Amino acid sequence: MKDPVRIAITGGAGQISYSLIFRIAAGDMLGPDQPVILQLLEIPQAMDALNGVVMEVNDCAFPLVQDIVATDDPNVAFKDADFALLVGARPRGPGMERKDLLEANAAIFSVQGKALNDHASRDVKVLVVGNPANTNALIASCNAPDLDAGQFTAMTRLDHNRALTQLAQKTGKHVTDVENMIIWGNHSATQYPDLAQCKVDGKAAFDLVERDWYENDFIPTVQQRGAAIIKARGASSAASAASSAIDHMRDWALGCDGIVSMAIPSDGSYGIAEGIIYSYPVRCQSGKYEIVQGFELDAFSKEKMQATEKELREERAAVEHLLG
Ligand code: NDP
Repeated sequence: MKDPVRIAITGGAGQISYSLIFRIAAGDMLGPDQPVILQLLEIPQAMDALNGVVMEVNDCAFPLVQDIVATDDPNVAFKDADFALLVGARPRGPGMERKDLLEANAAIFSVQGKALNDHASRDVKVLVVGNPANTNALIASCNAPDLDAGQFTAMTRLDHNRALTQLAQKTGKHVTDVENMIIWGNHSATQYPDLAQCKVDGKAAFDLVERDWYENDFIPTVQQRGAAIIKARGASSAASAASSAIDHMRDWALGCDGIVSMAIPSDGSYGIAEGIIYSYPVRCQSGKYEIVQGFELDAFSKEKMQATEKELREERAAVEHLLG
């Protein structure tokens, strides 16, 4: 048996974690031969609920779970963590402006960035799910100067997976027939799901779907999918968010075939200057990701990519004073 790895999860008593923790414990993220130690973080008011989750995980008698730590101290939760999934975040309260929301979360993620810096494994892989995810990841990274900025990522994999299904259903094919799907930018309604590079069963997606469907149906459907799920089920898309977080971490850690979307530090690729966490097409291999270069961008794509970049730069400006 392999040595166990330590997986820190914040917001451990929340809806997403209620799916995520059990799937990680079952081996869905790192495989059926990888033992895990779960290190769960909550705010003090949610510790009773978190202890209930721990009781349930124990009741499952998962063969891979070696230990479970439940704590309200980030320094304990991130101690020697090999993976950190930052799910907990402050939701928008009544009368809260966007700037207040950014600031409330910036306070949480700056503390967590420092704790990761001081206590996590030097190779820790960090995924931010809690919204506003891209900017929360930026804040955590800026507060962790001893770690590489590239170790901090945010989740656009759910948007990517949603886009795969929309296109597969439209073309009467399966999601595994779709290649080169890309989500650019922010995990928000400005994200740009791009079909220009996409192929279905080897054929260009643009030869299979109409432009009108792409611009006026596909793009808004993917952008607004979270709201549509809340409307339909009266609760947010927690299980699919958890599933996509597992996809993101599994592919990053173990590698994958083809292109996936990950929000990572911008490095100038595709005209997006440094200083934000922006979703790009990447390939993952041997525990590393690499931006896929060389795609041609038309004027439509450039405009959409710049709009989502602008939003991320505005979010950054609102929390600049907390960037460490
Ligand atoms: P969820 O588990 O449903 O969601 C957690 C975060 O994930 C939210 O910021 C949510 O954003 C975000 N998210 C990203 N993608 C999605 C998606 N596709 N669907 C739904 N959510 C998505 O929230 P809960 O309120 O159930 O749980 C949050 C927990 O975090 C609470 O138990 C709270 O106590 C805890 N918390 C922990 C902290 C810590 O550990 N230090 C700090 C702050 C909170 P959105 O709000 O936009 O839906």
